[in-house]
Amino acid sequence: DDGQLADAVAAAERWTAHNYHPLPVVVAEATGAWVTDVSGRRYLDCLAGYSALNFGHRHPALITAAQTQLDRLTLTSRAFLHDQFADFCRGLAELCGMELVVPMNTGAEAVETGIKVARKWGYQVKGVPEGQATIVVAENNFHGRTTTIVSFSTDKDARDDYGPYTPGFRIVRYGDLAALAEAIDDTTVAVLLEPIQGEAGVLVPPPGYLPGVRRLCDERNVLFLADEIQSGLGRTGATFALDHEAVRPDAYLLGKALGGGIVPVSAMVADRSVLGVLRPGEHGSTFGGNPLACAVGSAVVELLRSGEPQARARELGDHLHQRLQSLVGHGLVAVRGRGLWAGIDIDPGRMSGRRACELLAERGVLAKDTHGSTLRLAPPLVVEAAELDWAVDQLQAVLSHR
Ligand code: PLP
Repeated sequence: DDGQLADAVAAAERWTAHNYHPLPVVVAEATGAWVTDVSGRRYLDCLAGYSALNFGHRHPALITAAQTQLDRLTLTSRAFLHDQFADFCRGLAELCGMELVVPMNTGAEAVETGIKVARKWGYQVKGVPEGQATIVVAENNFHGRTTTIVSFSTDKDARDDYGPYTPGFRIVRYGDLAALAEAIDDTTVAVLLEPIQGEAGVLVPPPGYLPGVRRLCDERNVLFLADEIQSGLGRTGATFALDHEAVRPDAYLLGKALGGGIVPVSAMVADRSVLGVLRPGEHGSTFGGNPLACAVGSAVVELLRSGEPQARARELGDHLHQRLQSLVGHGLVAVRGRGLWAGIDIDPGRMSGRRACELLAERGVLAKDTHGSTLRLAPPLVVEAAELDWAVDQLQAVLSHR
């Protein structure tokens, strides 16, 4: 009941730093696209753990993989090999069409791995003078929250008061090829981009931009690091968002859904010409590539190998976008995205994104606002068309709320 909910919210506020501002929903259980709160109320999950739950809550194949592994072996550290390791790395490399994998845990660690490897590649292969390497990134990027990564954030909340900042990054306008060409020079080792900017509000760059980035990187001998941590692994209707423009990067940075919503699993995946620069002792992680992570990660790769999650995201995504487009001019100012991933701008004259999310939660739909009046919709790819229709009906009702 309401008293119980208020107590749970107050207890969480009392015992944690306030680095998040959660909606007042206390979840106790979940299956597929649906979560249940402590009082038994059900909600359609239209955030899906920021796309970490692409396959839904507790997908049976992933739970079986985790439970089987829990009964056998959970951790060795990388000091020893284990029997889940090579299979996971081979499966992921093949899914990516690449040669080698560096397994890590969180998205930010995958990005840090990309930055470190690109710099080492720059010094050892490209011949950039020691200490001079630069990496070009985009405005409004979100790549994680380590001190180095926030050093090149343009979001004040993410960056302010965390200096001194890591040097070596140049920030250019997202979607602007001329600006990118201008920023690249002989010290540039990599371009690091999200193929679709998630936290920025699901911003899809203009057609031709990503192939143009690929071309520039080829011409200037620069690595294209694709942060597909949120956009990858089925979300956009393809295995990778870059697939829509037939672009192959020099490295994929992956995370979130790679752990099936069960364990944190991330990775940098690239060819030997890039990852071959790493030697023993030069990079690693105690939990990276642990047996439980590899068992779940292998099951995730298996799901994606079928192509079914991608196909669902494509088909249901077309339907979702059609329905959302019909709300533009009726409470929505703009709709963007691809596959089962939408950024919608609420008419700020009507209500804030936060208020819209609160009203949606009251109607049984969980979503999250970003940057004032934008909402992200990213339901698990196992959602049904009728459930999506129902969620859009709830949004429509919220938008007509006065
Ligand atoms: N990169 C992108 C594109 C992301 O969306 C995120 C998380 O939202 C990250 C990196 C960081 O991932 P993590 O929170 O697991 O460190």
